Amino acid sequence: MTDQLREKFENLDLNAGKGKISAFISMSVGLLCIFGALCFMFPSVLTTPEMRPIYSKHHEVFYFVLLFCIAISAGFGSFSAIVRQNRYGFYGLCFALLAAILGCGVIKAPVLPSVPFYAGFDYFVLTLVILALVFIPLEGFFAKNPNQKILRVGWVTDMKYFMFSHVGIQLFTFLTVMPIQYWITHIPNNPIVPYIQAQPIWLQFIELLIVVDLTTYWIHRCLHEVDFLWRFHAIHHSTEHMDWLASSRLHIVEVLMTRFIATLPIFLLGFHTSAVFAYLIFISFHAIFIHSNVRFRFPYLRWIIATPEFHHWHHSSEKPAIDKNYAAFIPLYDVIFKSMYMPEHLASKYGTVGYKIPNSFVQQFTWPFKKYINRWKKRRESQKQTPH
Ligand SMILES: [Zn+2]
Repeated sequence: MTDQLREKFENLDLNAGKGKISAFISMSVGLLCIFGALCFMFPSVLTTPEMRPIYSKHHEVFYFVLLFCIAISAGFGSFSAIVRQNRYGFYGLCFALLAAILGCGVIKAPVLPSVPFYAGFDYFVLTLVILALVFIPLEGFFAKNPNQKILRVGWVTDMKYFMFSHVGIQLFTFLTVMPIQYWITHIPNNPIVPYIQAQPIWLQFIELLIVVDLTTYWIHRCLHEVDFLWRFHAIHHSTEHMDWLASSRLHIVEVLMTRFIATLPIFLLGFHTSAVFAYLIFISFHAIFIHSNVRFRFPYLRWIIATPEFHHWHHSSEKPAIDKNYAAFIPLYDVIFKSMYMPEHLASKYGTVGYKIPNSFVQQFTWPFKKYINRWKKRRESQKQTPH
């Protein structure tokens, strides 16, 4: 998507009565339907292997949901295009039609063998639908900043991060877990492992929270305090609008590095798979929640677990809040390591201070390297100019 098109979408003025809301619903649902229909066509390459047994068991339910959503997209698209004469409604109608053609089996997909590599299209669609259904009403009813729109500046960029991280789930997991597995097979067995595995799952879950949070506290602190690392983490802090989607904005280098180091204690201590899965689902949901635009303050709980209020201060551009509140879940680490900041009022201004970070997804990817590339270019130029 070009920068002009992205800016156009980011400045959408969804006033009622112009057919824009219905066009937006039609286009977004239609696009998700296209992804869903493609999953039905190529399940062996576009769906996550763990979910495939559920899809084949409840095939009819998923297929009915797809057809229902196509009908919704077509309905809103027709209303916008015909009644309101909005051309974006026509685009939504086209998306619905394309999804119907793909999903109704008019185009016969070749039967592909199950391949070792896959794209998590289903993971992207399902997660997006579930999170949108939870967080859009939550932020609508309990907004901390009620003036902030759902489609605020930067949402297209953040949606690209969301899509990239979900569709590429296998690549991310592969790049993170493979080096650890290779390394772990080359070190002697950890004597603590049998003691951990003998414990109940709920206790392992709590231990995971405590251990991994200590690790991520220091990774996060290094991301802020080491200049080279900060350039990658600054991308996450570049958002000036906090909401559930803002949590997706993470540079791939940061994601890989953080996941690699945070996964190490999980493997080294040999936690049970059920405890690890429960922990990953819980902490992923919690990470989205603390970025969301909600005004809940949790009077006593806010000193025990990280809340939106706590993490919004971490994103604040106000001077006393800079480089504070590093903990992902346990604020006690910030108290112990003297980085806690929680005044009585709520944070209101967010973003990086002293940096102009571009808005586009591609430019944000290259931005952390720019300083070093420019430095290298300058050195080369000065070498050229120096007479031999
Ligand atoms: Zn940070």
